[in-house]
Amino acid sequence: MNILLLGSGGRECALSWKLSQSDLCDQLFIAPGNAGTAAYGTNVPLSIVDFEGIKSFCLDNNIELLLPGGEDALVAGIYDYFKNEETLRHIIVAGPSRAGAQLEGSKAFSKKFMQRHGIPTAAYREFDEASFDEGLQYLDQHTVPIVLKADGLAAGKGVVITSDKEEAKKVFASMIKEAQFGDAGKKVVVEQFLTGIEVSVFVLTDGDHYVVLPEAKDYKRIGEGDTGPNTGGMGAVSPVPFAQGTFMEQVICRIIDPTVKGLKAEQITYQGFIFFGLINVNGDPYVIEYNCRMGDPETEVVMPRLESDLVALLQQMHAGKLDSAVMKHSDKAAAAVMLVSAGYPEAYEKGKVMSGLDTVQDSILFHAGTAQKEAEVLTNGGRVLAVTAYGDNIKAALATAYGNAEKINFEGKYYRKDIGYEF
Ligand code: ATP
Repeated sequence: MNILLLGSGGRECALSWKLSQSDLCDQLFIAPGNAGTAAYGTNVPLSIVDFEGIKSFCLDNNIELLLPGGEDALVAGIYDYFKNEETLRHIIVAGPSRAGAQLEGSKAFSKKFMQRHGIPTAAYREFDEASFDEGLQYLDQHTVPIVLKADGLAAGKGVVITSDKEEAKKVFASMIKEAQFGDAGKKVVVEQFLTGIEVSVFVLTDGDHYVVLPEAKDYKRIGEGDTGPNTGGMGAVSPVPFAQGTFMEQVICRIIDPTVKGLKAEQITYQGFIFFGLINVNGDPYVIEYNCRMGDPETEVVMPRLESDLVALLQQMHAGKLDSAVMKHSDKAAAAVMLVSAGYPEAYEKGKVMSGLDTVQDSILFHAGTAQKEAEVLTNGGRVLAVTAYGDNIKAALATAYGNAEKINFEGKYYRKDIGYEF
């Protein structure tokens, strides 16, 4: 079948690497893609939220499967757009309906959903403009640290954690004020701070059944020892040693099962990935957040460990026949180290010539912010490239990934040297 994948990051490079290995994949197109995805398919210059453009492309190229890599197109309702168009209805869209994407698109929605279905998550209250004064009083009485979350999508910048109540009030006021300029109904979620180690768990669901993909841990901060500002992710490892046995059994019975059953009970159409951002609080899993797509950079270690055919899984998803008995994961560990541009996550320069890409051995290079210019590959973003390697354990995988990360050069290259340090 012909497949269109939407996106241009390291996640989409890893997905295109995996999709292109399937015998079921005839032609793979990536919109807009990057210099790395071009090795696995054809890049097409389309915006991921240009639904009309995507429609024409799908019809002209006999696309049978559409996979939106990120949340933007899903939250904007690409699933519903395809199902409401007579000419597009036959195309498999691997992702939830707009209503299902609210699990990620609205923190207030996801918190209420978890409450309705008894899914463990931090205690919370939600406030809007009408309850602004009450919110300020609530913050005064709240224990610190305080976690404040803007309701809608905020490109990873909508969460503020602070132990300073005056700062919390300022952030709260600015979130509600900013909302005045945007959505009238915008809200702020104030929640209890949970202490523990985080882990990302991914499932693919057909609405009734689901299969669990390899779990992963990502490293969000720019600096070693988890210091400095948050980034899109500086690296990832899989498996996660504590996320096995009893812990995973609890994740399944307390979190995954009630989520999939809850979506069905509420008649929310959901055939796609669910990303559970979890935290292990003294052995008990809690949901920090849901995402309606795969993670980045987690996908750069999850896809290499997934031995099952991804296109076949997406077909089974569409047919409502996902079966966990046939899932195959590699016993090897995988580690990804992200090379970024100097200055990231603040201002950084693009267009630096990259070298050494062809000297890499025993690693997969998943391009993120890169662009091809004639014979050269140039940096084209903050997160430039993930170097992923396998190993018999996480340490061995990291040793190979780091050896290769050294061989790649571009002006201003930076990467964390302590990914997976705790394992
Ligand atoms: P992302 O970029 O991961 O999509 P987001 O903006 O959707 O982020 P969350 O994932 O909800 O926001 O929160 C971002 C990070 O803040 C979490 O990964 C976690 O480290 C921290 N965090 C969020 N909620 C809590 C909490 N209740 N207790 C402790 N830490 C939290």
